[in-house]
Amino acid sequence: MADDTYDYDLFVIGAGSGGVRASRIAAGYGARVAVAEEHRVGGTCVIRGCVPKKMLVYGAHFAEDLEDAKNFGWTIDNPKFDWSVLRDNVLKDVDRLNGAYTDTLKNNEVEIILDRAVLTGPHEITLGSGKVVTAKHILIATGARPHVPQCPGNELGITSNEAFHLEALPPRILIAGGGYIANEFAGIFNEFGSKVTIINRSDQLLRGYDESLRDRLLQISVMKGIDFRFNAEFKAIEQTEDGCLKVSMTNHEDLVVDCVLFATGRVPNTEGLGLDKAGVELGQHGEIVVDRFSKTSVDHIYAVGDVTGRVQLTPVAIREGQAFADTLFGGKPTAVDHSCIPSAVFSHPPLAGVGMTEGQARNKFGSIKVYESDFRPMKNVLAGRNERSLYKMVCAEGSGKILGIHMIGPESAEIMQAAAVAVKAGLTKEQFDQTVAIHPTMAEELVLLR
Ligand code: NDP
Repeated sequence: MADDTYDYDLFVIGAGSGGVRASRIAAGYGARVAVAEEHRVGGTCVIRGCVPKKMLVYGAHFAEDLEDAKNFGWTIDNPKFDWSVLRDNVLKDVDRLNGAYTDTLKNNEVEIILDRAVLTGPHEITLGSGKVVTAKHILIATGARPHVPQCPGNELGITSNEAFHLEALPPRILIAGGGYIANEFAGIFNEFGSKVTIINRSDQLLRGYDESLRDRLLQISVMKGIDFRFNAEFKAIEQTEDGCLKVSMTNHEDLVVDCVLFATGRVPNTEGLGLDKAGVELGQHGEIVVDRFSKTSVDHIYAVGDVTGRVQLTPVAIREGQAFADTLFGGKPTAVDHSCIPSAVFSHPPLAGVGMTEGQARNKFGSIKVYESDFRPMKNVLAGRNERSLYKMVCAEGSGKILGIHMIGPESAEIMQAAAVAVKAGLTKEQFDQTVAIHPTMAEELVLLR
C-alpha cells in the first residue's frame, strides 16, 4: 500500500468524530496517516457539543429530581446549585476525553498535527506553520460551526460553543432557534433557574420530528415556565448602560435579557480550505458534495461528517469515517445507509424518533395505522408531576410493518435505541405484540399498544 511518491497515504483535515474514526481505521489497515486539527482533538461532539451538553442535561435534571424526591419521603433542606462546580467538572472531563482521543490516535500510529491545514495543490497540503506535505488521499472532516443570523449587534450574542464556559448563569436568557440546540439549552437553563425565552423565525419547533411530540414538548416547556415567541426575526441587539442586552424583533415587544444564545443551525466549514483550487464541488449551502462512498468531485479527495451536510449527527459521521477507511484501505467497499436513522433531542423531557412521522407516512401511503399511548409515568404520578409521556407507532396498513416510532418522556432516547433496531429490521406491530412486557416499565407501552 505504501507509495513513497507522497509523504502520507492519507491526510485527514479535522480530528472530530468522523476524522478520528477514519484516521485510526485507515492506520490499522497499514496506511501512513496524518490528521491535522487546528482546535482540539475530539471535535464538536466531544469538546463543545453532545458530550458536555449531555453532562449539563444530567446536572440540570437534578432540579426536578430533588423536587420530586419529597413525595418519595426525602427531606432535602435548602438545596443549592453552583454553576461553576458543574462547569469546571464538565470541562475537566472534556480534557480527559481529549486526552483519550489523542492517545487512541497515537496508539494507532496516526501522526497528529495541531495546526491548520489548507489544500494548495492536487495532493499538496500547506500547514499553518508554512510546512508543505503531500498525500495520496485527502479526507476533509472539518465539521460545521454555528450559524449566526445577520442583525446589528449580533456580536453581542453567544453560541453553544461559549455556553459551556459562561462565567455565571444568566438570570434571563433569550435563545434563538427552535431546533435541537435551542430546545436542549432551554431545558438546561430553565432547570438551573434562568428565565428562558425562545424566539423562532417560524411557528414550528423541531421540524422533522412527529407533530404530536413537538406539540407535547411545547406544552410541557410552557408548563415549566419557558416563554416562546414565534414568527420573530431579529432586528437588533443593543447593550444597555447597565450591561444588559435589549433585543428588538419583528412581531413582538423588545426584550431585555442578560444573554442571547444563537442556536440557528450550523454551516459546513469549507471556507479557506483551498477546496476551490482543488476543484472540489460545493453544494448550495457550502457543503461538500459527495457520492455514496463519500468521494468528492475530485477522485482522491473525500469528505465525511457535518461538512458534507448529509445528516449532522455524530454517529453518522463515525459511520461515514469507518466506511471511508474500509472502502479505501480495507478492500471492503462500504456505502453508509442513511435511512432509518434514530435520533433524540435531550430536552426536558427528552424526545426521540426513528423512521417516518405520521405526517410523512400519510403523505407517502395515504392510509396507515397509528397506535398511541398517552400516559403519566408511575414516577411522575407519585411525585405529583403533571407531565405525560406520549408514544406513537406508525404502521403500514395491512402488513402492519412499523414505519416509525416516536416518543417523548423520561429516558425516551435510551428506549428508542433498542426500538430502532426493530424498526430498522422491518418488524411488524404483531411481532412487538408477541413480545412479553417487562412490568412495570415505561417501555412496556411499546408492546401493549392498542
Ligand atoms: P437545527 O437545524 O436543529 O435548528 C435550527 C433552528 O434555527 C430552526 O428552528 C430554524 O428554523 C432556525 N433557523 C435557521 N436559520 C435561521 C436564520 N437564518 N434565522 C433565524 N432562525 C434560523 O439546528 P441547531 O443549531 O439546533 O443544531 C444544529 C445541528 O446539530 C442539528 O441539526 C443536529 O443535526 C445537530 N445536533 C444534534 C443534537 C442531538 O442529536 N441531540 C444536539 C444538538 C445538535 P426553521 O425551522 O424555520 O428552519
